[in-house]
Amino acid sequence: MNKLLPTSTAGSLPKPSWLAQPETLWSPWKLEGEELVDGKQDALRLSLQEQEHAGLDIVGDGEQSRQHFVTTFIEHLEGVDFEHRETVRIRDRYDASVPTVVGAVSRKKPVFVEDAKFLRTQTDQLIKWALPGSMTMIDTLSDKHYKSREKLAWEFAKILNQEAKELEAAGVDIIQFDEPAFNVFFDEVNDWGMATLERAIEGLKCQTAVHICYGYGIKANTEWKKTLGSEWRQYEQIFPKLQKSNIDMISLECHNSHVPMDLLELIRGKKVMVGAIDVASNTIETPGEVANTIRKALQFVDAENLCPCTNCGMAPLPRHIARGKLQALTAGAAIVRRELLGK
Ligand SMILES: [Zn+2]
Repeated sequence: MNKLLPTSTAGSLPKPSWLAQPETLWSPWKLEGEELVDGKQDALRLSLQEQEHAGLDIVGDGEQSRQHFVTTFIEHLEGVDFEHRETVRIRDRYDASVPTVVGAVSRKKPVFVEDAKFLRTQTDQLIKWALPGSMTMIDTLSDKHYKSREKLAWEFAKILNQEAKELEAAGVDIIQFDEPAFNVFFDEVNDWGMATLERAIEGLKCQTAVHICYGYGIKANTEWKKTLGSEWRQYEQIFPKLQKSNIDMISLECHNSHVPMDLLELIRGKKVMVGAIDVASNTIETPGEVANTIRKALQFVDAENLCPCTNCGMAPLPRHIARGKLQALTAGAAIVRRELLGK
């Protein structure tokens, strides 16, 4: 990646209304069978076109082929019963009806590899693919089999590693693990969470990333954020270990956030996907605002390591808002790029 300040998104983008109900998380598909297969591919092409049109340097599938960033992956695994659901508290924040682990978990066949191959045929740009992280997966389940969060996380890490290796072989340049749970369960992250993340990336030659955020702009998250006080120092708990890890890139929430920017000093040396777009607001940032966030981050991140990005996924936003935010992101990055290059 030679371009200075390469832009990308955290992952998800809105789906077209003919594929799934807009502005809704976990929205059910509107198509079935072959029509659904074609519909997902068409949506992926549209999403890619919008990313390329906005001028993003690192593109993705916009997560058009999954209903939810965690459960769609789990649905493809053996050992999980989707009929018998239980209500659990997600990240100590909100209740959700989730599937149950009833036996040994395993991946009988690849989950996203065909989708990634399809994306690879559609673009020559760098592509990034997101997978759920193992700690976030165990937090979105009820476990009746292993009865140990740690044991189940290790099993998921092995499965994620199998999937990641096949995604790499399919031509994915960056594999990202989404770990919002890292922002909540600090003791577990330091005890075994980081180790399971290392297991998930074992043997990969492509770039690896971890995305750690304060969640989508849904009510349960915005209510939770109100309880966090004026300075959000959660990252401070896990950055020292992350800095020493083998992960190449870290994707973080920065714009409109109460995260003190100087915490980024703790991961100096890593590539940082700096969240310069707020996904919890329908107000489209100006390029100047994006540039300001990038300039602040540059005090703590070396320019060659900074990748302007969104705070989190944009799936729940109206499509025109998400498009506007992508444009603002690339325009803001262009301002700072010109400054750095002295043009
Ligand atoms: Zn996120």
